[in-house]
Amino acid sequence: MMAFPEPLLRLIQNLARLPGLGEKSATRLALYLLRRPEEEVCELAESLREMRKRVRLCERCFNFSAERLCEICRDPERDPQIICIVEDPAALSSIETSGVFRGLYHVLHGLLSPRDGIGPRELRLHDLFERLKREDIKEVLLALSPTVAGEATASYLAEVLRDFPVRITRLACGVPMGMDIRYADKLTLKRALEGRRPL
Ligand SMILES: [Zn+2]
Repeated sequence: MMAFPEPLLRLIQNLARLPGLGEKSATRLALYLLRRPEEEVCELAESLREMRKRVRLCERCFNFSAERLCEICRDPERDPQIICIVEDPAALSSIETSGVFRGLYHVLHGLLSPRDGIGPRELRLHDLFERLKREDIKEVLLALSPTVAGEATASYLAEVLRDFPVRITRLACGVPMGMDIRYADKLTLKRALEGRRPL
């Protein structure tokens, strides 16, 4: 039993539930917070409360949003005829950071993984089909990671999207920037060669 007063123990227990934090790191973090100015700690607590209360899913693309529609869906400068399919809001955020993509998104909130019991019903696929019927979408860009689950999901989508009058594209795969090709694996090189383009 740790020799701390109850409010401190409670914080340690709550922090220890967070991913990547065991009891030791939780204790260190709690003692750090205890030494910070009161307003800083209150701001942290308030931001947690606000986040829980206000952040929800965009009704159109299922990105995180503080409004009914997210900022991207509300932006009149974006091209609504192309939608990019991503696994989760973190993947969406990575693509947004590149600043290159100017279309809209559709967030699946997962990838197909029969082993873990994640089938088409567990993802936001029905909502995607509804969007394709309702909106004037010309291109669907599959931006899923080239992992086993990402590939399985992309193949499934390519198959079912055939019934819709849309162009289906996917991200190019190949040798990452800064990588020495002598160390690239066979599959990466195969994809890079298949996806070669004129200079
Ligand atoms: Zn949205």
